[in-house]
Amino acid sequence: AAERRTIGDYLRGHAQDRGDAVALAFEGESIDYATLDRRASRIANGLIAMGLTPGSRVAYLGKNRAAYFELWMGAIRAGMVMTPVNWRLAPPEIAYVLADCRPALLVADPDFADRLDPAPSCPVLLTEAGGAGDLFAAWRDAQADADPRRDSGYGDPALMLYTSGTTGQPKGAMLTHRSLLGLRDGGGQDDLPAWFRWSPHDVALVAMPIFHISGSGWGLWALQHGAKAVVVREFDPHQVLDLLVEHRITKLMIVPTALRIVCDHPRAAQTDFSFLETICYGGSMIPLDLLRQAIGIFGCGFAQMYGMTETAGTVAGLAPEDHDVRGNERMASIGRALPGVEIRILDPQGHVLPPGEVGEVAIRSPSNMAGYHGRPEATAQAMDADGWLRTGDAARMDADGYVYLADRIKDMIITGGENVYPAEVEQAILGHPDVADVAVIGVPDPKWGEAVKAIVVPVEGATPDPAAIIAWARERIAAYKAPKSVDFAPALPRNPSGKVLRRLLRDQYR
Ligand code: ATP
Ligand code: MG
Repeated sequence: AAERRTIGDYLRGHAQDRGDAVALAFEGESIDYATLDRRASRIANGLIAMGLTPGSRVAYLGKNRAAYFELWMGAIRAGMVMTPVNWRLAPPEIAYVLADCRPALLVADPDFADRLDPAPSCPVLLTEAGGAGDLFAAWRDAQADADPRRDSGYGDPALMLYTSGTTGQPKGAMLTHRSLLGLRDGGGQDDLPAWFRWSPHDVALVAMPIFHISGSGWGLWALQHGAKAVVVREFDPHQVLDLLVEHRITKLMIVPTALRIVCDHPRAAQTDFSFLETICYGGSMIPLDLLRQAIGIFGCGFAQMYGMTETAGTVAGLAPEDHDVRGNERMASIGRALPGVEIRILDPQGHVLPPGEVGEVAIRSPSNMAGYHGRPEATAQAMDADGWLRTGDAARMDADGYVYLADRIKDMIITGGENVYPAEVEQAILGHPDVADVAVIGVPDPKWGEAVKAIVVPVEGATPDPAAIIAWARERIAAYKAPKSVDFAPALPRNPSGKVLRRLLRDQYR
């Protein structure tokens, strides 16, 4: 097989060919490709001087910053694996992740130093330590410039990302250079859909957290293509609107909850966004009204992305051409497999189901992870010898390959022998004018095995009647899918990506 270029190869290439093009912009600082390349070498030399060995992890705990991408590029150049840690986690959760990942070094934002309890067993290097200045930058710039060229290989891990922990404990997915680059480095980009292609002229906003693929992957793809990545420290609608305009962003990746906040900002409707080419969204179900509102405000192409940590992000997408807001059926689809990706819908025994039948989504993609860190059993359960990954998502696929997501298999409710996917019930109830938010779960029931329950967040000032919500649902979906009971709550438990933690709600009724 032809030698495939690693992440380090791409960076060296851009540093040579277009060294003065901006690679990273962050809070007033612009870092060109030559500088990023030099800093990566310095960091790699620093890591090697600390005696850190190839394959070991460098963890980062902190908000988004350009230095994270420098650290990542440096770690790779020393053959090491970058592991960003979710700073929104509570101290025991951070301790869990650090114990699982066993990093050789932790670079941390001083803001989070007090969340390191118990103290990690590896050395800790702080960034921006108040009066002491940026210790990380000082350390970096004390190292030699020569490129050590100890890069890991194309099939070796380059990034270890933890899953969101929606269905259980987060697991560390080991993503190789192939996982991260493989869908885009085949034979040029010609066979890729236009919305998925990048050019060196692209300007990408990294507005999602770097501890998810929607942040790290998005930034990396800009760097792979010699484009510019504008890094947002923490999602904030004001700042996102400012940066979109200031940098004339061409590509934005955003999750539906964050998109809602940006769209509802009074300035959004008054701004000219004609420089924007594509807004990519995904990670959770998008309400149709939000999509309509967003298309009205931004007027650019919208592409839905479907993927997960284990597939290094997007493996399927719904193209802008399929976004027909007058409501074609495909708007309800997450789209089709990207070139190079295979998708199958499987029954519980692992047999391939025909079009139209709901089963588990399985994916074979060059972007699939190498495995879960330190969990051979979970890896074997998730991935077979032929490279098919079981996603835990239920969906059907039509004859044209469009995939319609039902829900998580783990969240499926079996009531009176019928399968009910909470997402479908939630979509129906969300249409009720008094409902601001809703989660649907199965609760133990002597008659039905499980009974469908809706937990509703009413819109401000409304006091809806449970019977009215049940009746509303029964008019729109099959009677067995409609809730048997409705409870009210001021808010739903969500993780930072906006995903409802149904397992926490279920625990309340067990
Ligand atoms: P864990 O695996 O730890 O339970 P998680 O699955 O939420 O957490 P991620 O890898 O961040 O962690 O999320 C991937 C999941 O997000 C997918 O399996 C799918 O359920 C959901 N998802 C991704 N894209 C979309 C989309 N476009 N529409 C709806 N859901 C999506
Ligand atoms: Mg998952």
